[in-house]
Amino acid sequence: MTSLNIRAALTGARKLVIKVGTRLLCGSKGDLNLKRMKGLVEDVAGLWKEGRDVVLVSSGAIGAGVGRLGLLGKPRTLPEKQAAAAVGQGILMQNYESFFAPFGITVAQVLLTRDDIKNRGRYLNARHTLYSLLRYRALPIVNENDTVAVEEIRFGDNDTLAALVSCLIDADLLVLLTDQDGLYSADPHENRDAELIPEVWEITPEIEAVAGGRGSHLATGGMETKLQAARITMQAGIPMVIAGGMQRGNLAAILQGKRVGTLFVPCEETMKARKRWIAFGSPVEGKIRIDHGALEAILKKGKSLLPGGVTGVVGFFEAGNVVSLVDPCGREIARGISNYSSDEVKLIMGKKSTEIKMILGYHDYDEVVHRDNLTIIANGSTLKAGRLKGYAGK
Ligand code: GLU
Repeated sequence: MTSLNIRAALTGARKLVIKVGTRLLCGSKGDLNLKRMKGLVEDVAGLWKEGRDVVLVSSGAIGAGVGRLGLLGKPRTLPEKQAAAAVGQGILMQNYESFFAPFGITVAQVLLTRDDIKNRGRYLNARHTLYSLLRYRALPIVNENDTVAVEEIRFGDNDTLAALVSCLIDADLLVLLTDQDGLYSADPHENRDAELIPEVWEITPEIEAVAGGRGSHLATGGMETKLQAARITMQAGIPMVIAGGMQRGNLAAILQGKRVGTLFVPCEETMKARKRWIAFGSPVEGKIRIDHGALEAILKKGKSLLPGGVTGVVGFFEAGNVVSLVDPCGREIARGISNYSSDEVKLIMGKKSTEIKMILGYHDYDEVVHRDNLTIIANGSTLKAGRLKGYAGK
């Protein structure tokens, strides 16, 4: 796999998480840089209009609160930070709301704590909520719930939060926008020979060494927390780019496959690990029988399994379990994570997705098995299906 291949593969990213840091949004006194915010919104709206799903992770609540309260600097104690965040979060959202509105984009505030990701029930709940928002074509704007998060349940920085949100929604790409153009071989402020590192294939001690140092006095992270985020995304098989957010157009350039910023390349093995887990790592709890139409849609077009294509259910399984998909002759053709329990699938099989709500009284997903959660089994080997096809099989 070459650098060019991997960059080109980013053009196919459908689900994006974009994180914007305090240093981009706030001046040194905490005043919001509205011009930059507006430009960022225009860039994000451009990607959204191409049909991509975007989740924005935005810092700046504490900074904006500091500005509005007229404080001299970032508060030291947690309750003071929480108070500043409570003031600033509203200001942040108010501005996002008014900047996104002219593009016809509805924004949604999502505030998370670490507990929401750690606890399985709440993890699923947060995931469902974000998925529902994306289905409505709303644009979730995520931040840490600074006002309630005490030390033990804090993410502490939004780089880590953004990486975990990327895992939560199974993103195709995470972009961290910051005041530097990417990761440099040395501190570019101090060393004129510092060079931008275009791709990182592995986080080595050398990479750790060049990422030392912290952020500005209002911001939390620095390159260190960005590396921490990269460790999470590389492990999860999600590409991550650190890029400059001071100037316009970088987001579009990254999605056009241009060599902008520093790309942290997930190794091919981890990309496939999740699919492998679905195929072989998890017990198969039941079977779903599908018709010829669904068989063709899944095998030839890489589509999801909809209720209309289901003809039968064998065994007992819960939503979230791995099930086997069998063709009309009873042969296993794929495995995937079912969005509905066996009882629910029995009720909705053969029906249209639009009828799910009427039948079940709720409608969490259109698909019984989403294509991102589907691994095709053929002659005992796994074939690629789903996202970022450009990576597979290189
Ligand atoms: N959640 C914090 C805020 O909105 C930012 C944390 C960070 O900068 O990483 O102010």
